[in-house]
Amino acid sequence: MAKYQAIKGTYDVMPAEAAAWQHVESVVRRQARAFGFREVRTPVFEDTALFVKGTGEATDIVQKEMYTFTDKGGRSLTLRPEGTPPVIRALVEHSALKESPCVKVFYLAPMFRYERPQAGRLRQHTQFGAEIVGTDSPLADAEVIALLFTTLARLGLSGLTLRLNSVGCPACRPAYRDTLVAHFRPRLDTLCGDCRERIERNPLRILDCKADRDRVQDAPAMTDCLCPACAAHFDRVKALLKGLGVPFAIDKTLVRGLDYYTRTAFEVASQHLGAQDALGGGGRYDGLVEQLGGDPAPGVGFGAGLERFLLAMRNQGVAVPDGPRPDIYVAALGTAASDKAAELCGMLRGKGYACEQDLQGRSLKAQLREANRINARYVLVIGDDELAKGAASLKDMDTHGQREVPFAELADNIEAYCECSCQG
Ligand SMILES: [Zn+2]
Ligand SMILES: [Zn+2]
Repeated sequence: MAKYQAIKGTYDVMPAEAAAWQHVESVVRRQARAFGFREVRTPVFEDTALFVKGTGEATDIVQKEMYTFTDKGGRSLTLRPEGTPPVIRALVEHSALKESPCVKVFYLAPMFRYERPQAGRLRQHTQFGAEIVGTDSPLADAEVIALLFTTLARLGLSGLTLRLNSVGCPACRPAYRDTLVAHFRPRLDTLCGDCRERIERNPLRILDCKADRDRVQDAPAMTDCLCPACAAHFDRVKALLKGLGVPFAIDKTLVRGLDYYTRTAFEVASQHLGAQDALGGGGRYDGLVEQLGGDPAPGVGFGAGLERFLLAMRNQGVAVPDGPRPDIYVAALGTAASDKAAELCGMLRGKGYACEQDLQGRSLKAQLREANRINARYVLVIGDDELAKGAASLKDMDTHGQREVPFAELADNIEAYCECSCQG
């Protein structure tokens, strides 16, 4: 028989790893709530045109990385490669900006990109993203950056770097583009093949070319060519970040791979991740809402990979709290005792306790081993004698103390423990 395997670039989260995921997700949700972001969930697939228009036809994502297919109704659909266009589509479709002129949303969702597997990149990864739509205030830029940065700090990550840049606006970028082309044209034969093509189509992308990293250091910086409005915006973002205690470094080569960015672009990296060190990034997109059919509205946001968070935590040696432990394991010997155990588990679960029992008729020894393996707080052992008495010995697995408890009083005894452990 053929054995099936997870598709290249995808992976399984097995129960042993789920606690770490749940921990990261709960920190993310708590932090998003602290900043006043509300969750949004959009479908996994969308009309292909949404990404061609929103993400940008010339981007690597649209050119090379999308999972696009035709459904049985002949529609061209694409598995979401990034979160921003679907979120904007949903806000426009539901007139969310008419209800409230400034919307703050976050998402935790899988993204799909046909990445080259040799780079160790995933083809399905999970993103934490956030967007503020409806204001061009630098306060919003600082707030989304602070949300990402403080979430990472809350996860226990250190050695974080915030790279910051401004990519200007439609008023000032064309002149900068010309300056850049004038700078690179005489140096064209020193650039890689991709960049020789990029010089006409998308000269800004030369700045973040990995192959030409050493040859772009003396290139003119966008931040020296900003129009007065963009310069004032950038200055205030920097001042706000200083006030928030978020350290940053200006990186003139940071242009991000998407077409829609205006003004602020940023990326947060970890020194615990090696060469591919980005945890997430984003920027401002003042033209995107209108481009996707909404009334003009500015926006700013980020996307960050949860797998990257977990990898950086592992590399840094950050301890992840254990998942919740079962309150009680009911061990039973014989059919009648097993039936009683099922009844007691049902009663306790009804009161909100986590209970387990053996489902396979295993030996008492095997059951106690299982109770240890799952780290149950209490163990109750039921055999014929206990059935006759209507009481059994409740063993505290932490203190190793035990006492006889009538079945009817079981919940009260567990409750006493839960009251003290819930406070901790
Ligand atoms: Zn400008
Ligand atoms: Zn290049």
